Amino acid sequence: MEAMQDRFSRQVRFASLGPDGQERIGASRVLLVGVGALGTHIAGSLVRAGVGTLWLVDRDIVELDNLQRQVLFDEDDARHGRAKAPAAAAHLRRVNSRCDLRPIAEEFTAEVFAALGAPPDLILDGTDNFATRYLINDLAARAGIPWVYGGAVGATGAAMAVVPGRTPCLRCFVPEAPPAGEVGTCETDGILEPAVAAVAAFQSAQALKILAGRLDAVASGALAIDVWADRWGVRLRSGGPDPSCPACSGRDYPALRAPALEPVLLCGRAAAQVFPQPGARVDLPRLAAHLQRAAEDIELTPELLRFRADGCRFSVFPGGRALVFGVTDAQRARVLYDRYVGAC
Ligand SMILES: [Zn+2]
Repeated sequence: MEAMQDRFSRQVRFASLGPDGQERIGASRVLLVGVGALGTHIAGSLVRAGVGTLWLVDRDIVELDNLQRQVLFDEDDARHGRAKAPAAAAHLRRVNSRCDLRPIAEEFTAEVFAALGAPPDLILDGTDNFATRYLINDLAARAGIPWVYGGAVGATGAAMAVVPGRTPCLRCFVPEAPPAGEVGTCETDGILEPAVAAVAAFQSAQALKILAGRLDAVASGALAIDVWADRWGVRLRSGGPDPSCPACSGRDYPALRAPALEPVLLCGRAAAQVFPQPGARVDLPRLAAHLQRAAEDIELTPELLRFRADGCRFSVFPGGRALVFGVTDAQRARVLYDRYVGAC
């Protein structure tokens, strides 16, 4: 115990946290969904702060172009194409061997959440897509668990803490996930590491307050930043959950109604069919515009959008269904779909 106090002495000395806050943080169980740019920053911060248990969920592998912003990985991880969740856990164990790190190299689903056993005290959003964020939102609302939303693209970022019963949720502001193609991604618009670091810092700070039992100190507003234009701010708001929000009122959790269909390999061809999330919409002309710098051979017709990226050919139909040519692994097709079509 003495040694642990030494390790966290500078944090404990911060009066608003104190020994009581540190003890609560040490006993806490946190779920981090997505161990990419935001996720690696958040995980590093929370493991150093002394969280007791941290689940790390990510379906992807480390690639060389991740290293510019995904701070837990190195060239060796990229060279071996290591799965992100266990690679991150291996690095974090060398930072804090007392933290119970539980990597899960899978797509995050309601089933993965249920398989955790006892629910976590907090969920952190390190994802890059709105489909998963709405799933987190609805799971958290149903279980009464706080979560912290975060997103970054280009030089901009946004983040917000959601505390069931106290603050509005994501659905209170935007009832449904935006159409795929409407919002840029790191692939289409690029990403600067400082934007990631700023958003992750806000998320980690809210996490520490929530875990330390200081809900009174949680930001009552959403972070909005642009590290290139030097706009840094929190848009304050007052008021609790929207009474007409289905998730906050407990009437309905749309993201939990029906799981997305699994992608399927097409027989006899190096190709897969990928289905969108239930109820998703895709704006093909806007998606085509976003892809200008990320994809090649872009061709938009009234029937479909064709393009070439990451060595694969894509055909995306207006309902969001897509054919991905050049893959022999269905999950790889899902990763590429989320990367370029936007995962809604
Ligand atoms: Zn709500």
